[in-house]
Amino acid sequence: MECYKFQLVAIVSLVLLLPSTHGWGKEGHAIVCKIAQSRLSDAAADAVKQLLPAYAQNDLSSVCSWADSVRFYTRWSGPLHFADSPDKLCNYDFDRDCKDQSGVKGRCVVGAIGNFTDQLLTYKTKSNSEYNLTQSLLYLSHFMGDVHQPLHVGFTSDKGGNTIEVRWFRKKENLHHIWDVSIIETAEEKYYNSNMDDFTADLQKNITKGSWAKEVKGWETCDNNEVSCANVYASEGIKEACEYAYKDVTDGETLSDDYFESRLPVVQLRLAQGGVRLAATLNRIFG
Ligand SMILES: [Zn+2]
Repeated sequence: MECYKFQLVAIVSLVLLLPSTHGWGKEGHAIVCKIAQSRLSDAAADAVKQLLPAYAQNDLSSVCSWADSVRFYTRWSGPLHFADSPDKLCNYDFDRDCKDQSGVKGRCVVGAIGNFTDQLLTYKTKSNSEYNLTQSLLYLSHFMGDVHQPLHVGFTSDKGGNTIEVRWFRKKENLHHIWDVSIIETAEEKYYNSNMDDFTADLQKNITKGSWAKEVKGWETCDNNEVSCANVYASEGIKEACEYAYKDVTDGETLSDDYFESRLPVVQLRLAQGGVRLAATLNRIFG
């Protein structure tokens, strides 16, 4: 019963929220989770299987946007999807930047990743956790994707590019949405016959034996034996936001082939890193 309610809320709210996306779009999040689930240790794969709602049929990628779909009902979770920093500084500082609009510290995507990691650690230590660990897993999986979208750690005044209106080829879009959805969509249309699985398979190939293979160990590692290290990912993200997402973009202009071709590699890298790091974090939590 509980599961049906959970599913119903997710479906109804998804329909209500379809026009606006917050975080990678549904596809970006699914890609991150798909990569992650394929890299889990046996112990982590088993824990994920136990914690996923039955309707997900052991497919983490199918519920990776759940956190967006319930945002309307869980207003408290809104600030947990991003961590904007002061304009043009191009660096991230937890003490300065990780807070909500009322100034409550830790209420940003970096704090959320730390919190849901801590909650999931009770899976191993307590037979009866006080947390809903299914939700903790879905939130952690979603926020690990969000923190890797460079404009989720963008500038405060333009709300991570949400208020920058441009054109994507002929269509009116805001810059944030272009990074959440449009670059991925255009790549899939142009190179993969609109097939997300083929797009994902290419990323996986580059992770295991392609151009990123040598870097993957570094992506997975957290300093000081920490279980999750989202501060690092946020710092990388704002740098990429400055060097690629915001760079040479002015309000009202048309972004097309040049922007697409030069930014797609960054989107591909961040999706891959998000997936690898989500897996590494879940392996540390449940391993
Ligand atoms: Zn989100």
